[in-house]
Amino acid sequence: MSADLLGRLADLVYPRRCVFCHRILRAEPGRVCPACAKQLPPAPEIHGRGEFYRKAVGVYAYTGPVRESVIRFKFEGCAFYAETYGWLLAEAVSRELAGKYDLITFVPISPQRRFTRGYDQAKLLAQAVGRALGQPVIRTARKVRNTERQSCLGGVAARRANILNAFRPWRPERWAGKRLLLIDDVLTTGATVSELSRELLVYGAASVCCGFLAVTPKS
Ligand SMILES: [Zn+2]
Repeated sequence: MSADLLGRLADLVYPRRCVFCHRILRAEPGRVCPACAKQLPPAPEIHGRGEFYRKAVGVYAYTGPVRESVIRFKFEGCAFYAETYGWLLAEAVSRELAGKYDLITFVPISPQRRFTRGYDQAKLLAQAVGRALGQPVIRTARKVRNTERQSCLGGVAARRANILNAFRPWRPERWAGKRLLLIDDVLTTGATVSELSRELLVYGAASVCCGFLAVTPKS
């Protein structure tokens, strides 16, 4: 039986669903349903959130069905959403950041959170982006402190203090002198990616640019 036929049979038994609204995906082109493709709000302005990285792209605004979908991805075991998210983010990256980086990397979570969650969601997302673009993904840092969830903290200053020195570089000899594309699922104030970008530059990265699946509206 051909892989194509097997795939179609699998779709009949376990129909693929849109990761945002749960509608069954028919044999339509694209990775999200036509309604979501049309209606989901694009990422708001990123400029001015954080520092140390040069340029950043986001796919969607972190509201409504996008927010609910990312919560399922991070907290309710829907790790397989990474494939669709990665494909969507890869499109934005190839449109806006092509030629601006050498290696793809990701914002790591702490070992404690990795243990309770069972997976590192930004790593899965980065790997899916890498697969979609046919480019390598490497680890560049470890998170050495289990910080408070940034989403639980109010202001920019509190978030910055929470994350300060939370990362340590990982095998910088593999990426020193390279331009890095740093992937994360959600951008809020930029405190986390700023801190990691700072650390990566200190240990020799030539530059850092960023890609996010979702960006919170400015408060
Ligand atoms: Zn949908």
